[in-house]
Amino acid sequence: MARLIFITGGVVSSLGKGLASAALGALLQARGYRVRLRKLDPYLNVDPGTMSPFQHGEVYVTDDGAETDLDLGHYERFTAVSSAKSDNITAGSIYQRVIDKERKGGYLGRTVQVIPHVTDAIKEFVMTGEDEVDFLLVEIGGTVGDIEGLPFFEAIRQLGNELGHERAAFVHLTLVPYIETAGELKTKPTQHSVKELRSIGIQPDILLCRASVPIPEDERRKIALFCNVRKECVIQGLDFPTIYSAPIRYHQEGFDTQVLKVFGITDAPEPDLSRWNWVVDRVTNPEGEVRIAVVGKYMQVKDSYKSLSEALTHGGLANNVKVHMDWIDSEIFERDDAAVYLENVHGILVPGGFGERGTEGKIEAVKFARERRVPFFGICYGLHMAVIEAARDLAGLEGAGTTENGHPRHPVIALMTEWTKGNAIETRKEDADMGGTMRLGAYTAMLKPGSRVAEIYGANEISERHRHRYEVNVGYTRQLAEHGFQVSGWSPDGKLPEIMEFPDHPWFIGVQFHPELKSRPFAPHPLFASFVAAAVKQGRLV
Ligand code: GLN
Repeated sequence: MARLIFITGGVVSSLGKGLASAALGALLQARGYRVRLRKLDPYLNVDPGTMSPFQHGEVYVTDDGAETDLDLGHYERFTAVSSAKSDNITAGSIYQRVIDKERKGGYLGRTVQVIPHVTDAIKEFVMTGEDEVDFLLVEIGGTVGDIEGLPFFEAIRQLGNELGHERAAFVHLTLVPYIETAGELKTKPTQHSVKELRSIGIQPDILLCRASVPIPEDERRKIALFCNVRKECVIQGLDFPTIYSAPIRYHQEGFDTQVLKVFGITDAPEPDLSRWNWVVDRVTNPEGEVRIAVVGKYMQVKDSYKSLSEALTHGGLANNVKVHMDWIDSEIFERDDAAVYLENVHGILVPGGFGERGTEGKIEAVKFARERRVPFFGICYGLHMAVIEAARDLAGLEGAGTTENGHPRHPVIALMTEWTKGNAIETRKEDADMGGTMRLGAYTAMLKPGSRVAEIYGANEISERHRHRYEVNVGYTRQLAEHGFQVSGWSPDGKLPEIMEFPDHPWFIGVQFHPELKSRPFAPHPLFASFVAAAVKQGRLV
């Protein structure tokens, strides 16, 4: 039977609730407990898969093929526990379940209501498989007071009541702003936020107070008094020099100790934080720096490439260097010479993406990397761009392109309609629902013995996560190989190219999947470690 920890937020969003949850998960794990983290998102989209990265940031994909909130990426990076479909749900998906059940007559003619039917569906989701872990951490998206969040708050209130204090704790994250002109920290927003929470029946046990300067004793006492919590349970959360110091810092503030105390646990082993100390030491004391250009589309919103930037950082940890990322909007290369922006970088990465805008610019970036022999890493759409570039410039296939953007004369990237996964045949239709047509989740790939990727992975068989509709068209792979661009990883049925590389280039690899999703600070993904190593080498040349 797991103990449940509910994490809610107040005052404003973007205070780092996902990170605090992930850090708490890591701390409990470091004390030897089994943990799982879940996220409840109050918006009405059925999943974030169809939301623009400008709106929502990255879509994080799990092994079992769920398109989820990017906080699940934090959870995985901090705890190394693979997330699953059952770890993220939206209000839209909950309502869809309830309505589907109603249509099938599942409510036996009763009036279907938010309480108890929607709240029951939420509780059922939260409690699924709870007996497999010691602590289940459940983060509620948004802030208290949001209309669409109400059914979720009501559901966790009920759960708190049903499970009792021995099995449920409530953590509330707020902001204690510093008012420059008054030279003071203000506790009022926290008081109001907790008042709001209590008005819907939830008394927080722990308050995590984000502040830009240390919170003095007096202010903590005041918060404790007005919010009805013990003073030691007012935990300050200052800004971190790196997100990976969160477990260490929160432990120093007593976060995990107080959470355990809420459950009456006072004899837990001290957490082993050695791996976190190692990561923080590496992040803060690099031996050098490399510069990587990331050429994509959603550059204004860094969260769109959250896992990618983390994976590059991890690649830096593996090589003891800091990775400086230049985020470049590819459209620039459709007007200006790519050399101006790319001449001083040590590696070029074209990440995943969708749609036509900016593609010609990405192709320019690929061309620069190939011709100037700069390490190049193409991820998903980045691989597609590399294939188009090679088809046009090396194989002389004028008008080569992807069917994602129309009807090119040479569809070197196209929709594959059928392949096998294990013993099952999977198919895709061009006109299916958005979100229903993607190749999603973990797939096995077989690596060509002797290829660079086989050497990098140190394996002949790998599993990586996918999220895309289009594939490299096998009808063109021979022609591309004749010009040096070879397939070095295939789906087990030999129908889908998964990895391509130029063996003659210092480092030029394109992958159909998203390796960034599986990279962890203490286990950097081999492709990122190797790419950054190639960039380090390049740095010595220039
Ligand atoms: N837009 C491409 C596709 O759907 C690539 C997707 C991606 O980069 N994740 O196939």
